[in-house]
Amino acid sequence: MPIRSEGEFDVVVVGGGLGGFSAAVSAARNGASTLLLERYGFLGGMATAGLVNPFMSFHVGGREIIRGILREVIERLTEMDGYNPKNRSFDPEIMKYILDRMALEAGVELLYHTVFIDSVVSEGGYIKGILIYNKSGLSLVMGKMFVDGTGDGDLAVSAGAPFEKGRASDGLTQPMTLSFDLAAVNFKELPSREELNEAYRKAKIRGEITCPRENLLWFRTTRDGLIHFNTTRILKADGTNGRDLTRAEIEGRRQTFEIVGWLKKTFPAFRDAYVVRSGPQVGVRETRRIIGEYVLNAEDILEARKFRDAVCRGSYPIDIHSPTGEGTIIKHPPPGEYYEIPYRCLIPRGVENLLIASRCISTTHEAHSAVRIMPIVMGIGQAAGIAAALCVKKNVTPRRLNLRDLREALRESGALI
Ligand SMILES: Cc1cc2nc3c(=O)[nH]c(=O)nc-3n(C[C@H](O)[C@H](O)[C@H](O)COP(=O)(O)OP(=O)(O)OC[C@H]3O[C@@H](n4cnc5c(N)ncnc54)[C@H](O)[C@@H]3O)c2cc1C
Repeated sequence: MPIRSEGEFDVVVVGGGLGGFSAAVSAARNGASTLLLERYGFLGGMATAGLVNPFMSFHVGGREIIRGILREVIERLTEMDGYNPKNRSFDPEIMKYILDRMALEAGVELLYHTVFIDSVVSEGGYIKGILIYNKSGLSLVMGKMFVDGTGDGDLAVSAGAPFEKGRASDGLTQPMTLSFDLAAVNFKELPSREELNEAYRKAKIRGEITCPRENLLWFRTTRDGLIHFNTTRILKADGTNGRDLTRAEIEGRRQTFEIVGWLKKTFPAFRDAYVVRSGPQVGVRETRRIIGEYVLNAEDILEARKFRDAVCRGSYPIDIHSPTGEGTIIKHPPPGEYYEIPYRCLIPRGVENLLIASRCISTTHEAHSAVRIMPIVMGIGQAAGIAAALCVKKNVTPRRLNLRDLREALRESGALI
């Protein structure tokens, strides 16, 4: 098959989840010609393709700790009646539209339905270009700086960066979840969470429910009568393995209709309810973690540590859904405190012109479970995009970028650091 050229850019971002999106918008706003490529026909990654909702908290003690692009997205969602501030839920279709508009307005060149395949790396660990595939065939994209927004570190690993996967004891990752939305729920008749969970537990004992999760995890949404479920649990599936992903989709759908069938026959509130949508892809919480110049760990989260090279804040706890069955481990930072994420976590070892802009930054399994949430990933993406544009402007690699320049540009872009 002949290989075409898809051009040359200052910054090439692979993967258009909320991390890659925030990176691409930030790079373009900082003067870099920027390409963002994405395998689906829309941006958002887990937020849209995974149907994940709502935004987890980006506050401590009622104070915002993450702003910038996250705030812009929330303002736009609100303008279109697509955001519920009470529980931070958003409309995923409006989200897709807003992400398109913001990327285009920033001057990002979008390339959808395009899969990253491999990278071309020169001696010394410089990525020269990447090989991509879409309906036009195979193409090569050249770039000065590259940003990995794939969530799985596809680009970083192909370029030779080291990585780890899963927990230290046995390599297992957090389970997957096929999220779904149930419409036509009668809210007036809705039982309490306690009543629902009690009935769910009994149904599990009777064998009517075979989902390994310990309770029903659900959220009200931006619409009356519409409930979002984050309840299915698919164990021991690796999100970087095609066969595991296939099994996860099938098992997620099986659990979905088992849960919905049981709800409909058990509670009048769900009598007319129906599955209006499920995620176009199963939700993947955790795969590879790219090893960078610093590895964020559990103590950093639990002791709310601060760093000289901080680029983002977080307050979300360690939150590990059991990789083997029931149970969820939750450990909070001290009340009213936030931790910081150092720039070094975004710089992979072994590659020179690459930054990470997604959940797979350099962390342990435990710290990953905290920093993976959407608001934090957006803060990470914003930092990676600004850093990439500055590297091009100043003709330096990420390791040599002046920290003061980066943090100043971040503050100017609305980030709280
Ligand atoms: C079930 C579940 C529930 C969650 N619940 C919450 C919650 O309630 N609140 C919260 O804030 N967070 C939650 N999270 C976490 C959060 O949704 C994700 O961690 C976060 O959205 C990840 O963003 P990302 O940009 O790093 O990666 P992703 O969203 O995974 O984006 C990666 C993007 O890269 C693209 N891509 C990947 N590989 C390639 C390739 N080779 N070529 C081209 N494109 C590629 C993908 O299509 C995708 O668009 C949840 C996650 C899951 C799975």
